[in-house]
Amino acid sequence: MILLDGKIASAAVRQQLTTEVAGLKAAGKRTPHLAAILVGNNGASETYVASKVKHCEEIGFASTLVRLPETTTEADLLAKISELNQAPEIDGILVQLPLPKHINEQLVIQAIDPSKDVDGFHPASAGKLVQGLPTFIPATPYGIMLMLEHFNITTKGKHAVVIGRSNIVGRPMSILLSSNSQYGNATVTVCHSHTPNLKEICLQGDILVAALGRPEFVKADMVKTGAIVIDVGITRVEDATAKKGFRIKGDVAFDEVAAVAGALTPVPGGVGLMTIAGLLKNTLQAYYQRNAG
Ligand code: NAD
Repeated sequence: MILLDGKIASAAVRQQLTTEVAGLKAAGKRTPHLAAILVGNNGASETYVASKVKHCEEIGFASTLVRLPETTTEADLLAKISELNQAPEIDGILVQLPLPKHINEQLVIQAIDPSKDVDGFHPASAGKLVQGLPTFIPATPYGIMLMLEHFNITTKGKHAVVIGRSNIVGRPMSILLSSNSQYGNATVTVCHSHTPNLKEICLQGDILVAALGRPEFVKADMVKTGAIVIDVGITRVEDATAKKGFRIKGDVAFDEVAAVAGALTPVPGGVGLMTIAGLLKNTLQAYYQRNAG
């Protein structure tokens, strides 16, 4: 079984970005700049945003973290986004999800200038993705594609099964894997909460992507021998013996699936790191596109 180590694959992407950014700076160019907005104090969101900011700094990007209280109104958040849309030095904007219940997430996503939509959640970005046009690919599926590329995992002609159809993971993942591209050209089945015979379908997958958010849902008896298994899930599971009081679990029962899979991503240390790599690449892409305009 090959461990698809996100630490190794993401470090390779970051190294390449670091070199590129150093080159821009040496040439006297402006520094690429990502702005992240965090509303409220959700523990997991705090961790994700802190990690995104840290990685920006490590590769030489500028970053701005906008922290807003849980009580922020929708109008105030939209005003902040409008300000960042207009700020010439900001290349990419991300709003960490989920947002507090009183804020309409769709409205917020649609308020981001598509030219700065480095999370790729804006309908304009999603529409382009569907049509195979250049766009910002949502960071998690993008990161998974970068991982396939890093480990040179061919997808052409294979049957890929994706569990989950969310706009941020499952749906774009299925589009990318079925696209006419080097790491696409797979035959894709999308499964969701209303899929009967899930186990039988999963067993047909040469590639299995688990993105449903149920800890250790995918067991060994659902996995085809030798399959490439990509575990997207991140769930905090209470554990009194852990230092923080919880452990991070993926959607795949790692130990038992490792015994049948041909390759498998760990959690943590897999897709999460690749997601950040995807975000950083999108930010640099936004920078180049804005500078070219
Ligand atoms: P979501 O809740 O928006 O979507 C879950 C999908 O799974 C839905 O389409 C639903 O139909 C499907 N589903 C739920 N239960 C199912 C079942 N029993 N059988 C089949 N399908 C089922 O979640 P999401 O935002 O797509 O995230 C999925 C998981 O990935 C979560 O654990 C999330 O934390 C994680 N995630 C990780 C990263 C990362 O960087 N690694 C990024 C985003 C999300």
